[in-house]
Amino acid sequence: MRHPLELVFIRGVVEEIEPITSRMRRIRIASGQLRDVHWSPGQHVRLTVTPPTRWLRDPRDARRSYSVWHLDREHGNLDLCVLDHGEGPGAQWAKTAYVGRPVTMSRPEGRLTLREAPYHLFAGDETAAVAFGAMLRALPADAAVHGVLETDAPDGEVPLPRPHRLPWIHRGDDDADAETENARPAAAERTPLVEAVRALRLPRRPGIAYLAGHASDCQAVQRHLLHERGWSRRDIVVKPFWAPGKRGLE
Ligand SMILES: Cc1cc2nc3c(=O)[nH]c(=O)nc-3n(C[C@H](O)[C@H](O)[C@H](O)COP(=O)(O)OP(=O)(O)OC[C@H]3O[C@@H](n4cnc5c(N)ncnc54)[C@H](O)[C@@H]3O)c2cc1C
Repeated sequence: MRHPLELVFIRGVVEEIEPITSRMRRIRIASGQLRDVHWSPGQHVRLTVTPPTRWLRDPRDARRSYSVWHLDREHGNLDLCVLDHGEGPGAQWAKTAYVGRPVTMSRPEGRLTLREAPYHLFAGDETAAVAFGAMLRALPADAAVHGVLETDAPDGEVPLPRPHRLPWIHRGDDDADAETENARPAAAERTPLVEAVRALRLPRRPGIAYLAGHASDCQAVQRHLLHERGWSRRDIVVKPFWAPGKRGLE
């Protein structure tokens, strides 16, 4: 008989852990419930990252969202890739994960998914690369793909699937972690990611853009597409994943 929690959540265990970049761990979660789950590449799950005793103190720390890097329905498992950026409950959960650890998570959800378009434009940071990797894997080999990704250094580059590899830029010492919301004001229009997207040679007509990761970079790239390239809002799917000083964006 099913556990009542399984009507709402997926319950599983950590099955495998490996570093995927210098600061990111790939964590495989196994659950029989994943054999018949519906998932579109780009969607995420909401993972319970703290024990119930802590939810009473601060309900915002109960869950964090992580994109599904890969889902294997046949074997009933999925992979998440979590960046180690500090001491938040999500980062802590990933740092302390061990094989056999019980896991509770939502079913996959979210609207960051592939759309029909003449070409696809991806822009974001290494956390966005997790969702983008799944989306790129689902595109046909002859799909037209453009984009750029940002991380701190070459060893932070998430390995993306062939043939749709995207170029990376490196922020070096300008650690996104150290920023505060107020430290990235109007100058956001000149952040390295926006500059890199501005430099892309794109067809004159809009395609579909997927923007994810650092919230103010997403907004700045969106403004660039709207105001400098003449795209409309319906051509752009934006999903901010995190913002300096904010906890657990949904
Ligand atoms: C739809 C969606 C999908 C996501 N997918 C992924 C994913 O695949 N992999 C992943 O690692 N994260 C992903 N995230 C972000 C994730 O949900 C957490 O926000 C992140 O792990 C931080 O949680 P935390 O509890 O460690 O820190 P929090 O307590 O939430 O945040 C504490 C502080 O840490 C800093 N911070 C948070 N994230 C970063 C970062 N990436 N770089 C630098 N500083 C940061 C900020 O200053 C923040 O105020 C996703 C978010 C959303 C909304």
